[in-house]
This record gives sequence, C-alpha cells and structure tokens, in this order.
Amino acid sequence: MHFNPYGGRAAELAVALVNAAAVDTAAVLAEYGAYGSDLTERQAAELRDWARRLSAVFEDAPLPHRVDLVNALLADSASRPYVSCHDGRAPHLHYADEQAGTVARVKAFTAAGLAVALCEDPGRLGRCERPGCAVVFVDTSRNGRRRFCSTRCANRWHVAGHRRRAAGDRPSGVRGAGPPRPPRST
Ligand SMILES: [Zn+2]
Ligand SMILES: [Zn+2]
Repeated sequence: MHFNPYGGRAAELAVALVNAAAVDTAAVLAEYGAYGSDLTERQAAELRDWARRLSAVFEDAPLPHRVDLVNALLADSASRPYVSCHDGRAPHLHYADEQAGTVARVKAFTAAGLAVALCEDPGRLGRCERPGCAVVFVDTSRNGRRRFCSTRCANRWHVAGHRRRAAGDRPSGVRGAGPPRPPRST
C-alpha cells in the first residue's frame, strides 16, 4: 500500500471500483489482493454505493465542492491511519485496522487515496471526455493532459470530429485547428 504519485494504488483502487461498480466489485478486490473476494451481496451493494460517492470526486466540479466530498468520504470511512512494518517491510501507512472488515478497509483505503491525489493535483483525477464514456482515471502521464480513458476512445472521438467537419459544419476550404488525425491502426 504505497502512495506513489497521485494517490498510488489507493487511488487506483478507487478508480477500479468506480469503473467496475456495475460489473463485478468482488473481482476488482481480488485483483488488488489484500482483500477477500468473497463478498456477501450486502457488502457488494455497500461498495457499489461507495463507488458512486468516489465517482463524484472525478467530476469537473469546483474544487471546494470536491474537497467537501473527499472530507465526507474520510469522515464516513472511519479512517484510522497508522504506520505498519509487517512482514519485514519498510514502514508504510495503513488506513484501517487489519481486523476491520473488508468494506471498512476498502472505504478507508480509497478515501485516503483520493484525498492524497486531490491534495497533490486535483487535475489528475479525470473522466473520459468522449461522450457516452464515463470511465474515470488517475492521470499519471508526464504532462498531466490526459483526456481519454483509452487510445480507443481518443481515436473514436477524433474520427467523430472529422465526420462532423466532413459533413459540412464549416464552409469548404476553411480548416480549423482541429484535433490531429488519429493514428492509423493496423
Ligand atoms: Zn501493509
Ligand atoms: Zn473512454
């Protein structure tokens, strides 16, 4: 549970939960290790509700509002940070008692992850700009200008832009400084 840039794995888990909320929360947790994948239906429902709250932090909303959302997440997650050196590892932060249940630990971890990410650079928590795609991400790119969840969405958005222009949105011969052509895929 290391906090590499922008909330590290904790923020990544928040992203994965938001993106998987409707699909399979248990599978996401299994992938992140440290959590059992045997969620009861009630626990899964609780985490889906939680994921909806995490999701709101990725909206392009005024910063004070996003800060309030994260503070509410921290308050409601009963986060109780402490330093652990278990298994001979270097000192690192844990956010909930190891004896706490899966839901409590996931809540504490993801709330802390988004809090760290928001404090480092709120612009790094983003949502795909392609209309119809709601996937969220932590932008860990060097320049921090990521706009899409995937190359696939970026390409589709650019192709749609070309179609709009080709359909005659503009007088012929006038070329706007639109987005570059998508790379030709194989
Ligand atoms: Zn640990
Ligand atoms: Zn997308």
